[in-house]
Amino acid sequence: MRVLVSGCLAGLPCGVDGTAYGDYPLARFVLSLPNVKALPFCPEDRAYGTPRFTPNIARGNGFDVLEGRSRVEADTDAEEDITDPLVREAHAMAEFAVRENVHIALMMDVSGACGSTVVYNGRRKNKVYVQGPGVAGAAVMKKGIPVVSQRDERTLALLLEKLGAEPQNSEAAACFSDGLDHHERDWYRKTFGA
Ligand code: SF4
Repeated sequence: MRVLVSGCLAGLPCGVDGTAYGDYPLARFVLSLPNVKALPFCPEDRAYGTPRFTPNIARGNGFDVLEGRSRVEADTDAEEDITDPLVREAHAMAEFAVRENVHIALMMDVSGACGSTVVYNGRRKNKVYVQGPGVAGAAVMKKGIPVVSQRDERTLALLLEKLGAEPQNSEAAACFSDGLDHHERDWYRKTFGA
């Protein structure tokens, strides 16, 4: 299985602070399987370099940015418009995925670039969330590629089964917390009334 993966989930130190944002054992386990080919890509590193200011979607989600209804701003008091580089690299990530014939994308949720289910609506410090993907997540979805995040344990369990590594029979069992996908958790339901 060929998997497009957010660079940080693959362990690359491409986060805004120059780290990989910690360890994600379930994602790491999936990517370590011998029948998985991981294809890492970091749209923000390519757009702005590392380290960098956090890019925020001003309002709405990544589809709003791609369709010109919103923009990307630096997480500073001046909130500079930094839309164009991220849109360019979001499309580059999607084109890379198509060129590499990936079957699925495993991406970092809540990121304004790689998010798949939830992103911040405006500056992170305000802690307001909106449903939907980040800018690169949206571009990948527009290519018809399924996107799953590191938080989607139910879907990742199905993926492991398909790959012949059933969670109950493998070291992956220790990587699960509740076996739910992100949108099935109490936090998501309370936040969005879902
Ligand atoms: S843009 Fe994506 S790959 Fe890069 S650090 Fe952010 S979440 Fe990770």
